Amino acid sequence: MTARRPAMWLIVTWTLLSSAAGLGAQTVDSPTRLLVNATVVDGTGSPGFTGEVLVRDGLIAAVGDPGSIPRPAGAEVIDLSGLVLTPGFVDIHNHSTGGIFRDPLAATQVSQGITTIVVGADGGSPWPIGDFLDRIDATRPAVDVATLVGHGTVRRAALGDDFRRTATDLEIADMTERVAVAMSEGAYGLSSGLEYDPGFYSSTGELVALAREAAAHGGFYMSHMRDEEEGLLDAVAEAIRIGREAGLPVQISHIKAGNASVWGKAAEVLGMIAAANAAGLDVTADQYPYTAWQSGLAIVVRSRQFQNPDSVAAGIDAIGGGERLQVVGYDPEPTLNGLRLSEIATRKGLSEVDTYMLLMRNGGSRVIGHTMNDDDVDEFMRSRWVMTSSDGGIGSPHPRGAGTFPRVLGHYVRERGLIGLEQAVRRATSMPARRMSLNDRGVIRVGARADLVAFDAATVADRSTFSDPGLTAVGIDRVWVAGELVWAEGAVTGARPGKAVRALP
Ligand SMILES: [Zn+2]
Repeated sequence: MTARRPAMWLIVTWTLLSSAAGLGAQTVDSPTRLLVNATVVDGTGSPGFTGEVLVRDGLIAAVGDPGSIPRPAGAEVIDLSGLVLTPGFVDIHNHSTGGIFRDPLAATQVSQGITTIVVGADGGSPWPIGDFLDRIDATRPAVDVATLVGHGTVRRAALGDDFRRTATDLEIADMTERVAVAMSEGAYGLSSGLEYDPGFYSSTGELVALAREAAAHGGFYMSHMRDEEEGLLDAVAEAIRIGREAGLPVQISHIKAGNASVWGKAAEVLGMIAAANAAGLDVTADQYPYTAWQSGLAIVVRSRQFQNPDSVAAGIDAIGGGERLQVVGYDPEPTLNGLRLSEIATRKGLSEVDTYMLLMRNGGSRVIGHTMNDDDVDEFMRSRWVMTSSDGGIGSPHPRGAGTFPRVLGHYVRERGLIGLEQAVRRATSMPARRMSLNDRGVIRVGARADLVAFDAATVADRSTFSDPGLTAVGIDRVWVAGELVWAEGAVTGARPGKAVRALP
């Protein structure tokens, strides 16, 4: 299907000093549009209602009952009968850091209804932050882009290759200074990836010191925790402790009970989060709607003794066996991609342990671990503390990269009725916007940015699979970013209204 723009009967050019979120001057060039007959689900969790929304100069100019908004002369009237109209989705954990420059139209993202992506998660961020955000502005992608500063990124800069140890006070001061610079250049907070190099080797004290600096700039702390498996509860406790001692909000990334040893622990984890909030802290989490994760082969062996058969056997045991591990990025032998570790072992006539050690000797691989349990995923999804994030992005080898948000709306809301539509929309809009302090979006209200999604609740569905992870979703009818249509009739329109979003000092 070819890209298409609607007829523009009236184009209003307007230079607007945006005061809504103090985001600075922006130039908006988009027609006045009246979206009518939609079921408006405003992102707050309030019940949907049949109504209409006036979009002018990239902002929402009016919201009302059917027929209540005076028709401005020349406005384009768009009939959204049968569709749900919501704020654009804010993906607080997105890995399109490089992909957004290769594919600025971001079809796999806007086709899900994503209008703002947040990069820099898991401890790895662009650097320098200011240069990255300037590059985004120069590129003008279809979506807005914000970033966090990565703990791993500043740790690598301060310690170089000698990172397999705790940092000295001097090095922590160096990292702290780098966090300060990043925050002043527009980062929204500090992210960590404590299962990965080099974050794995950091002490809690190091993280508290850096988080304090992020707090001083109004930021939050987001963590891929130290452990999502045997040590899950300790890892949650550490994340909460960092929030308490550094005095800032905490976001737990892609919350999960990562293997059989912690299946059934979701309620306990959520209890810890609820208790932290009851004690006055601000702790939330995000989740992708799948029972399989994607990471590096190294993550399976917690002791990091990748050539020790006992350690490897223990690691494979803990995830429930080699058939739960799918190799998806093994460069020395790409024909093995898609196979389970158990299948590769059979093909090679080796044990699973020897196969693992062989793959690691040859550089490792991206893997998908089919190790989560539906009941835990459900429990996290029902929680008021948990929002949706993709942990994917452009070119993701996991179907979450192209399917996350429609999968929640299709599989979890419509097919299973696990959560209500309003709750699912809140998880994708106002919750992440609030966590990011993006007060100009995430809710349909007068004065907010006209980042909007119209979808068919009866058909919306993800299509991406582990064997075809890039398949775009269906049922997302139209997506607007700052009032400009970026997705319509199953294709990108070619419009690129996106820009960098910078946290204010
Ligand atoms: Zn992660």
